[in-house]
Amino acid sequence: MAATMQTKAAGPYRLAARRDPEQRTIVRVGDVAFGTGEPITIAGPCAVETREQTLESARAVLAAGGRMLRGGAFKPRTSPYSFQGLGEAGLQILAEARELTGLPIVTEALETDHVPLVAHYADMIQIGARNMANFALLRRAGQTDRPILLKRGMSATVEEWLMAAEYILAEGNPNVVLCERGIRSFDPLLRFTLDLNAVPLVRELSHLPIIVDPSHGTGRRSIVRQMSIAAIAAGADGLIVEMHPDRDAALCDGEQSITPDELTEIVAATHVVSAALSPAWVA
Ligand code: PEP
Ligand code: MN
Repeated sequence: MAATMQTKAAGPYRLAARRDPEQRTIVRVGDVAFGTGEPITIAGPCAVETREQTLESARAVLAAGGRMLRGGAFKPRTSPYSFQGLGEAGLQILAEARELTGLPIVTEALETDHVPLVAHYADMIQIGARNMANFALLRRAGQTDRPILLKRGMSATVEEWLMAAEYILAEGNPNVVLCERGIRSFDPLLRFTLDLNAVPLVRELSHLPIIVDPSHGTGRRSIVRQMSIAAIAAGADGLIVEMHPDRDAALCDGEQSITPDELTEIVAATHVVSAALSPAWVA
């Protein structure tokens, strides 16, 4: 077993590889720690739309037991005519939401030039699925002192994803949390297919924490709750979930957003499921 791990460690993702069974990285974002065994839920709207919507979301996340606030200020949209985010004004709103609630914030940097600006306002920088193989962006993220949330590309293999993490680690930033967010498959009833195989596989191959996004991973609000529970049962270190206080009016991804009440149920369930797991199952 040790020999196999040695070989892997010398392989292509030498910094991301788990060199021995004891090796686990804990990534801290403020007072939040990913990878300790305690499930962490990040929640919030897909996009920062208004100050009111964001502050209301932040209060709901705090009340539900969520530990971090999410929300895009720069949005990667399939259509150039869709809402693109509020930009820096959105980052300022997120910072205000942090002031109000104490919740650390994670938000996406879409371009290399955005990284210093996002790093200035955010506690953690998200690299989105569409940018997982943007090596210049990964390098730039690796040069900041902010933890990075690295989403899996929608057509990326697990090895390609770990290589993307390697780009960040190789620049000297050790704080990477991986996020499984669904891959392209053939079923038109689902936006993506949540690849929960990736959770135990990544935990076997890498020491980095891994969380799951059941919102993009399904695209369907009615099944987010079940897949959240399944993700924790598979050994995920946490979740990132889209929640909107008025989801039918959301400017982005309302169809996959849950309500504040559902978030409360999900957070409670993550703790129940996590406590029921034998530590040996998720070692
Ligand atoms: C998001 O988190 O809102 C997002 C755009 O995610 P992804 O990059 O996984 O599509
Ligand atoms: Mn979204």
